[in-house]
Amino acid sequence: MRLLIVEDEPDLLASMAQALREEGYAVDTAAEGEDGLFKAESVDYDAIILDVMLPQMDGWTVLKNLRRAKKTPVLMLTARDQSRDRVKGLDTGADDYVVKPFDLPELFARLRALIRRSANRTTNQLEIGRVVIDTAARTVTLDTKPVEITAREYALLEYLALHRGEVVTRATLYEHLFGDDDDTLSNLLDVHVSNLRKKLGHEFISTRRGHGYCIE
Ligand code: CA
Repeated sequence: MRLLIVEDEPDLLASMAQALREEGYAVDTAAEGEDGLFKAESVDYDAIILDVMLPQMDGWTVLKNLRRAKKTPVLMLTARDQSRDRVKGLDTGADDYVVKPFDLPELFARLRALIRRSANRTTNQLEIGRVVIDTAARTVTLDTKPVEITAREYALLEYLALHRGEVVTRATLYEHLFGDDDDTLSNLLDVHVSNLRKKLGHEFISTRRGHGYCIE
């Protein structure tokens, strides 16, 4: 999952980005509205965290412009006691809100719910044959036994599982699994796929030559 955070407070931006990367998300950042809008329009993010109070172009203007082109799920960060902001946000097309100051676990939970809703899912569990993926706990079991998995492997597995039955191209995987600051060595994806196959069974992920990968 690839996220964009638009936030002008450097410390808050850095701490959110780091915490979300540790959760296995690919994270891009923007410190002001115009840059945020540009990135939001250029990249197909899985979700955007957008601060309301930004210098020059504020969060509402970013959202309004973005909604002309894209339906990317947006989580707004609003200040306490700005209940009017919430109503305004609904009208403008925001998907959810977190009121500052917030705990990171609350932010994570809202984000997961947002991404889940955008994929039209009602549960945190994805069951594929003998494999069960818990998208809240970010854990994987095979025949009910826990599987040790890295954050990057998890991200790849979750993305393919959410698009089960579809062939997901390498380009799409790169767009959703790696941020602007990540090293995108072309063979890295193959390494993660290979590791997942060792852990979950070789047939679990199929390769479509010239097209991409697929979980049937
Ligand atoms: Ca701000």
